[in-house]
Amino acid sequence: MSRVYNFSAGPAMLPVEVLKEAASEMLDYQGSGMSVMEMSHRSQVFQNIIDEAEADLRDLLNIPDNYKVLFLQGGASQQFAAVPMNLMKNGVADYIVTGQWSKKAAQEAEKYGKVNVIASSADKTFSYIPDCSDLPIDDDADYVYICENNTIYGTKYKELPNTKGKTLVADVSSCFLSEPHDVEKYGVLYGGVQKNIGPAGVVIAIIREDLIRDDVLPGTPTMLKYKTQADKGSLYNTPPCYGIYICGKVFKWLKKQGGLAAMKEHNEKKAKILYDYLDQSKMFKGTVVPKDRSLMNVPFVIGDKDLEAKFVKEADAAGFVNLKGHRTVGGMRASIYNAMPIEGVEALVEFMKKFEKENA
Ligand SMILES: *Cc1c(COP(=O)(O)O)cnc(C)c1O
Repeated sequence: MSRVYNFSAGPAMLPVEVLKEAASEMLDYQGSGMSVMEMSHRSQVFQNIIDEAEADLRDLLNIPDNYKVLFLQGGASQQFAAVPMNLMKNGVADYIVTGQWSKKAAQEAEKYGKVNVIASSADKTFSYIPDCSDLPIDDDADYVYICENNTIYGTKYKELPNTKGKTLVADVSSCFLSEPHDVEKYGVLYGGVQKNIGPAGVVIAIIREDLIRDDVLPGTPTMLKYKTQADKGSLYNTPPCYGIYICGKVFKWLKKQGGLAAMKEHNEKKAKILYDYLDQSKMFKGTVVPKDRSLMNVPFVIGDKDLEAKFVKEADAAGFVNLKGHRTVGGMRASIYNAMPIEGVEALVEFMKKFEKENA
C-alpha cells in the first residue's frame, strides 16, 4: 500500500491514525457486533458517539453554553438558504463578497430578502480581503455574512469585520479547526466538514441560542429550521451517522495534537515553508496579497499554461496529487489542511525546486 500526498481542496486528506482506527472498528464497533454504518441512530451506542463528538468539539473550541452545536446535512451550500430563512427577521442582510462561495451565498439569500453587498474583492479576482473596519452596515440588517477562508482564491480574514453590533455569520468550511475560533464573536459559524474535519455529508453549525427561533420565514422546510434540529439534538431524522463518528475521531486526534492553538502553530509553520519558497522562486508565484494569505489553501501560478500542465502532470506522477488550480484562477493550488503532514509540504517544495531548475 502506498499513500500519496493529496493536496485536494476537498474532500481532502484525513489523519492516517483516524483511518486506521476506523478500519479496525469496521466489522465490530466496540463489541456491538456491527459497524457504525449498520446501527440504529436511536441506539444508545450511537447516542454515545454523537454526545462524545459534541463534547469534544465544545472542548476544542471552548463553545459557550448558550450556543448549540448541530450536525446537519445538505453541505455548506444548503446553509446558504438556511441562514436567511432562519435569521432574516427584518428581511435584510449585508454580505461581504470575497469569492465564489460568498457570492453564491448572497445570490441564494436574495431569494428571501434584501441583500446588500457591502464590500467585495471582485475587482482583483478576489486576491485580497477588503478593509472591513468601517463598513456601510444597514441599520436594518439582520446579520453580516462572510466566508472566512476562501478555498478557491486562498485568502483568509485575519481579523473579523467590524459589524457594528450586528450578528456575524461565517462560513468556515475550509478553516474549521485549523486554529482557535472565538465563538462568541459569531452568531452562527458553520462548515461542511469535508475540507478539514471528516467525510463529505456532514455540516456542523454552531448557533447562538437566541437566533434559534420559531418565527422563521414562512415556508421554511421543517428540515432547514434550526429549531427543529436543535430541539432534537440533531436527531430529528437519520443523521449522517458514520460521518459524525469519523468527525468525533478527528476531534480526539486534534486534542491529542495539543488542541487548536497547537494546530495553528503547526499550520503556520507548514504554510511558511511553501510561501517562503514561492516568494523567492523565479518560476512560481503566489496569487494572494501576502497579508491575506490562507494557511489552508495556497494558489500559485507559473504564467505559462503549457508549463503549468506539465508541472501538474509530473507532480501527479511523483505522488503529489490534486494540485490543479480552480478553473477560475488557473495555475495550481495546494490545499494543506490539518491532516497534511509537514513532510508533505517539504517534499512538495523540493519537487518544485527540481522542476524549476529543470525547466528554467
Ligand atoms: C467547499 C465549500 C463550500 C461548498 O460545500 P458543499 O458542502 O459542497 O456544499 C462552501 N463554502 C466553502 C468555503 C467551501 O470551501
